[in-house]
Amino acid sequence: MHATIETLKNDVLARNAGEPEFHQAVVEVLDSLAPVLETHPEYLDQDVIRRLCEPERQVIFRVPWIDSKGNVNINRGYRVEFNSALGPYKGGLRFHPTVNLGIVKFLGFEQTFKNSLTGLPIGGGKGGSDFDPHGRSDRDIMAFCQSFMTELYRHIGEYTDVPAGDIGVGTREIGYMFGQYKRITNRFESGVLTGKGLSWGGSLVRPEATGYGTIFFAREMLATQGEDFDGKRVSVSGSGNVAIYAIEKAQELGAVVVTASDSKGSIYDPDGIDLDLLKQIKLKERGRISEYADRRSNRVEFHENRNDVWQVPVDVALPCATQNELDVHAAQTLINNGLRVVAEGANMPLTADAASLMRETEGVLFGPAKAVNAGGVATSALEMQQNASRDRWTFDYTETRLEEIMVDVHETCRATAQEYGAPSDYVLGANIAGVTKVVDAMIAQGLV
Ligand code: GLU
Repeated sequence: MHATIETLKNDVLARNAGEPEFHQAVVEVLDSLAPVLETHPEYLDQDVIRRLCEPERQVIFRVPWIDSKGNVNINRGYRVEFNSALGPYKGGLRFHPTVNLGIVKFLGFEQTFKNSLTGLPIGGGKGGSDFDPHGRSDRDIMAFCQSFMTELYRHIGEYTDVPAGDIGVGTREIGYMFGQYKRITNRFESGVLTGKGLSWGGSLVRPEATGYGTIFFAREMLATQGEDFDGKRVSVSGSGNVAIYAIEKAQELGAVVVTASDSKGSIYDPDGIDLDLLKQIKLKERGRISEYADRRSNRVEFHENRNDVWQVPVDVALPCATQNELDVHAAQTLINNGLRVVAEGANMPLTADAASLMRETEGVLFGPAKAVNAGGVATSALEMQQNASRDRWTFDYTETRLEEIMVDVHETCRATAQEYGAPSDYVLGANIAGVTKVVDAMIAQGLV
């Protein structure tokens, strides 16, 4: 191991105490950089790698709001503007009780390299709040979103920082935030947020993009082995936008998807998921996954443990729920059961140990989040393009653009990994390709 990388790692970890998810993301990226530094010692000049690990700006703010029962609530809001070397900060907002500064920093760090891999001109950022939208009325959600934007608006802008959705933030929340931004600024600045509704500047394919992109990437991984999705058994975790549209595209390609989950449990449907029913329950009714088992048939199993999805023997596993949801035991079970491909639809869903095990296992391909799920943010960048040109593209045109981008991200990762002597190591390829582009731009821009 390169001594300098070890020193850098220790320094970054000490400087960001108590942020385990940020540590996990940084360690994985810095470990991948050791071979690059041997051939490119100039990357150690002017401490550019250390600067890369330090966000450009971190904003933390109070979000006071009154709920429909008249209670005063105080949440904490975040926006971490991580890196603007390639374009305006770009990345989602997450509303979930587990959100804290370390989580937002890990997501912003990953976002920077993910956005770089898309090949589009977007920097990296992330934000959110510890607000829990679950079980809240529309009126409460609106009150929260309006208060959140009343502070956030001063930090964002179409040329500055462009938030979007993530866990707990979809078109409804983006709508309330866009409306408040418009009132405060008196500008219809469409490019300030992405994930908007179709009639007010949103893009076709944006809701589907992360899930579809995940499948396009996994399809390319399978193709390197001369295989495709037709007839493959697939397990998916989660039941939000990413999971649902990954299931949709996998089914279109002939796969049998047998699992889905939410925070309260999981389902195993041996006949293959009934997607219309799942969409009805999760996207329309905002209900629980247990209702799927109640309404589908007797053959469906409901399990209270959401991680039971990894007990099912499958060819392809797609963790699409949240960080660190798939641990080393689950990874070993999947491998023992004959897994061929695992592709991360969520951000960092494999623990560090699980990821190492997958990378080391002969015959298993592991696609890391920053490459696999880049289709969401890539389509956000396509939404920004449509906003800037006051245009509106068709579904087919936009989906083709997404597919081309995902094929290109896959090829970039594969070719980079090959250049460094490990052709099937997508983690190495994604990290090296994602980081070097950002670092080259930072060096060109002086001491930024
Ligand atoms: N939250 C998504 C991600 O993790 C999308 C961000 C965006 O569209 O800006 O990449």
